[in-house]
Amino acid sequence: MRESWLERFAEAPDVLIDARRQRTIVPVLDLAVGSDEFVTMAGPCSVESEHQLMATAHRVRSAGARVLRGGAFKPRSSPYSFQGLGVEGLKLLAAARDETGVAIVTEVMSECDVPLVAEYADILQIGSRSMENYSLLEAAARSGRPILLKRGMMATIADLLCSAQVIVSSGNPNVILCERGIRTFETAMRNTFDAAGIALLKQVTHLPVIADPSHAAGHRELVPALARIGIAAGADGLLVEVHPDPDNAWSDGEQSLDFDGFAAMMVDLKPWIALRGARPAEEKLEQLNAAARRLAEALA
Ligand code: PEP
Ligand code: MN
Repeated sequence: MRESWLERFAEAPDVLIDARRQRTIVPVLDLAVGSDEFVTMAGPCSVESEHQLMATAHRVRSAGARVLRGGAFKPRSSPYSFQGLGVEGLKLLAAARDETGVAIVTEVMSECDVPLVAEYADILQIGSRSMENYSLLEAAARSGRPILLKRGMMATIADLLCSAQVIVSSGNPNVILCERGIRTFETAMRNTFDAAGIALLKQVTHLPVIADPSHAAGHRELVPALARIGIAAGADGLLVEVHPDPDNAWSDGEQSLDFDGFAAMMVDLKPWIALRGARPAEEKLEQLNAAARRLAEALA
């Protein structure tokens, strides 16, 4: 990438690709996020009940998801909306992990909840509304858990990388970035999915990037198409909302897939994920080119 373009990201030096660091692989239980393995995280927007969560955990696991998502502390646009089950929700998530073997990702909204959420979660999610809460980022970083950092809905790519830099410079290298759509003048969708942002991130940062087609779209009909686009743009994984009965979900039902919809999408995505495996060939080509350049320099 051209120096003049990279200068935009100069305030986030530790997350940029350089000669020493091409790729960060984030270990989560037995998973390696950011490796050649594509990682799908799926589950309800909010944890509602034992039955809802267990049924979802089993179904998303058998459809190919390796991480179960579910909010126990919910940042809602309205103060009158459901705010989450809190610690009860965290306990249900841990029980779902024990029963099915999936890793758990769940949001932490407040600095003082970090120790509690970190006790139950395998990945701490920092929500879009919290991306610039630097004291929360530092506290989450210090927990030592991997962090899923969602892009603020009004944040630039440079802002997102600055927040990642805060986590990395607080001593936690295990950051996974998430593109979940940004606000634009378009209102037909909940947000505008920034696929170019994913492509750009994959060129400038060594951190893994995952795509959240659910919050980007706001409508379940669009989720499979945005998932495909996210994979084609270079995403290392997906974060998808799935609910046993989306029309009666306590939050984000409009954008949630039901079990069959999720399973069908996962089958349809297989060839796209397989194509992504072609990427190492490009990397090998780049290595060959670099070796050829070094040889030419040595001979000159
Ligand atoms: C969520 O993942 O349910 C969520 C609240 O997402 P975001 O922070 O991207 O709005
Ligand atoms: Mn949601």
